[in-house]
Amino acid sequence: MIDKLTKFAKREWASLTFSKKLNVHLPHPIVSFTFDDAPVSAFEHGADILAKYGFGGTFYISLSLMNGPEADTRFTSTHLRKALARNNELGCHTYSHIDLAQTKTQEGIADIKRNQETLHKLLPGLEFKNFSYPFGAQTRPIKKFASEQFRTARGIEEGLNVGTTDACNLKTVKLYEGKHTLDYISLKISEAQKSNAWLIFYTHDVTDKYSVWGCSPAYFESAVQECAQRGITVSTINEALNLIESTRHES
Ligand SMILES: [Zn+2]
Repeated sequence: MIDKLTKFAKREWASLTFSKKLNVHLPHPIVSFTFDDAPVSAFEHGADILAKYGFGGTFYISLSLMNGPEADTRFTSTHLRKALARNNELGCHTYSHIDLAQTKTQEGIADIKRNQETLHKLLPGLEFKNFSYPFGAQTRPIKKFASEQFRTARGIEEGLNVGTTDACNLKTVKLYEGKHTLDYISLKISEAQKSNAWLIFYTHDVTDKYSVWGCSPAYFESAVQECAQRGITVSTINEALNLIESTRHES
């Protein structure tokens, strides 16, 4: 409980005292599907479902998990290459999947840099452009570092991104099957349509035996299919940002 309160206080302090303004004034809504960590099932079922509709998503990866001891998160470099070939984006999620609110700032920064260096060795020339905080944990100095290192950083606070937003604490809606009904997910898509918002979904595993942080392929596909049927633009975080910035220049 104390840990939770400390984490909450650090995140609130970071939110109040530091932000990177991003104006989201779109002529139409955008939905992004994102995966954290990311489990093998996200690379397999999640990416397959997105590809079926001609879409790509953003995989925020911790490269310490690659070829690691846990079967469900033991993705390989083949998964990464295949994801990139199918118009997905690789985002940064620290190397060791550490809680940045419980880590010394310099160690946190070194761990984030290690993820980038490891990616360089694997896929030379590829940069992580966007970040998500493991556990949503933020501190003011880490948030400031993320703002300089990345175009955006996604948190875990629920909401739509519209109007004046904080690019270093992007809001999100969980695709956790045990938490939200598909009716609720539909409602969020409708809200994004009404306000021309940028709606960022996030999940972890996409498998029939889903964890409390994940969902089944059928649930995931329902959300993707609904966006497709409504003609909503679905894009990676990086492409969405390009659209947001180009709209800003035109207006
Ligand atoms: Zn994570």
